[in-house]
Amino acid sequence: MSSHLATPLHTIDLIRKKRDGHALSDEEIRFLVTGAASSSIPLEQLSAWLMASWIRGLSIDETHALTIAMRDSGEKFDTSRLGRTAVDKHSTGGVGDKTSFLVAPIAAACGVAVPMISGRALGHTGGTLDKLESIPGYRTALNLAEFESVLQTCGASIVSQTLSLVPADRVLYSLRDRTGTVENAGLICASILSKKLAAGLDALVLDVKTGSGAFLRKREDAESLAALMVATAEAAGTRTVALLTDMGQPLGHTAGNWIEVAECVELLRGEHPAHSEDLRQLSLSLAGWMIHLGGKSPSPEAGSRMAGAALMDGSALAAFMKMVDAHGGDLSVFDDLAAFHKPDVTKVLNAWETGTIAEMDTTAIGWAVQRTGAGREARNESGVPSESLGWDPVDPHAGIVFHARRGARVEKGQAIATLYATSPAQMDEALERLRAAIRISGEPLAAPPPLVSRIFDRESAEAFLANPVKVKKTEKQGLGTRD
Ligand code: URA
Repeated sequence: MSSHLATPLHTIDLIRKKRDGHALSDEEIRFLVTGAASSSIPLEQLSAWLMASWIRGLSIDETHALTIAMRDSGEKFDTSRLGRTAVDKHSTGGVGDKTSFLVAPIAAACGVAVPMISGRALGHTGGTLDKLESIPGYRTALNLAEFESVLQTCGASIVSQTLSLVPADRVLYSLRDRTGTVENAGLICASILSKKLAAGLDALVLDVKTGSGAFLRKREDAESLAALMVATAEAAGTRTVALLTDMGQPLGHTAGNWIEVAECVELLRGEHPAHSEDLRQLSLSLAGWMIHLGGKSPSPEAGSRMAGAALMDGSALAAFMKMVDAHGGDLSVFDDLAAFHKPDVTKVLNAWETGTIAEMDTTAIGWAVQRTGAGREARNESGVPSESLGWDPVDPHAGIVFHARRGARVEKGQAIATLYATSPAQMDEALERLRAAIRISGEPLAAPPPLVSRIFDRESAEAFLANPVKVKKTEKQGLGTRD
């Protein structure tokens, strides 16, 4: 119960209201978010509210209120002392989605400050923080003074939500992961933007995924999410663009923890392997926008060229190493990327017939990656109030390396993936899931979708949301009409 409001609010009334399909007011949403951050509302009630929100959907106004209440649930970072424009990138979640390790140091090398508050594995998707923590010693939970100090010296810092920084997302993120309430436009929008707005950004680039590995797979749902996020962030005063990008197969050739970091380090070293080309291209597009919005290039295209130069001249690599060092990470692991990789169990999946890889169900592949031990199966149940609790460890060396991807011709018996798992039982399950997720066909393939299919800015996002037909279509996925 809330004591300081004229009419006391009760969590049970708000759960029932949402359950019955009514929109909650700003005040009611703030009450729930404050209760989540302070642990005054029990997890079972928060879970019930999340599930009611997932089933009923959040209106645009509720999404707005939730985003702002979550942003305000803790301290905020003041970027005005950094002396550089602060710009960040955030993805709505994918498999093998590791662009943060490239775009953060690239943008920093090009003169932009990148205060990045990231997340852990969520649902079938991997987590930037879990991947970073595969580097021994890397500390993701910094306080605000440490965060500022790393940004001052390195230009980029990738950290977690903490007890003081967006604490409501820390609790709700973990609960959504455990309660099947991830794939909802309003909840995704509020989770991402609360972190980004608390970081005090001048501008934000969103990577909104569409396709079989996205939380909202259908293109029209991903478009609605992109428009919703751009409009919400702009209304809160942050210049924002969203790129709609393909998640119809894992990005790059790795999905896991250390193996993803290692793939990025190869690109930062100026290598150009064909199996990482989509990752490189997407990172250059995203970084191009960051550099442009950071005022360092006249256009996003010119920004992409600067980004490419930073990859080739070693300045992005130097920025990455400096950041890892400042976070306490052990740089010696980069001396020999392969030698540091010590998986417990290794197995190769061979093609079971000759043909073309016609389809990769990327959500199913994400679950296969999680089962190798790269993600969590359950959370530490006591995971709310203390800094150290809440996240069981993941296996830094588990994951999957893909040797063939969508559209590749394979011969029966040819290796299409190598899996690294924590135990033989986990390996068996991951192998079975991976095999079921890949379809080999003798038929000719349809042309693959473009890597970046659409870009939303404030004007196009508002125009999109003003079209009630498009918004209405997505109601089932959780984005309702304005109240
Ligand atoms: N990333 C987040 O931080 N939150 C989500 O809900 C999805 C992706």
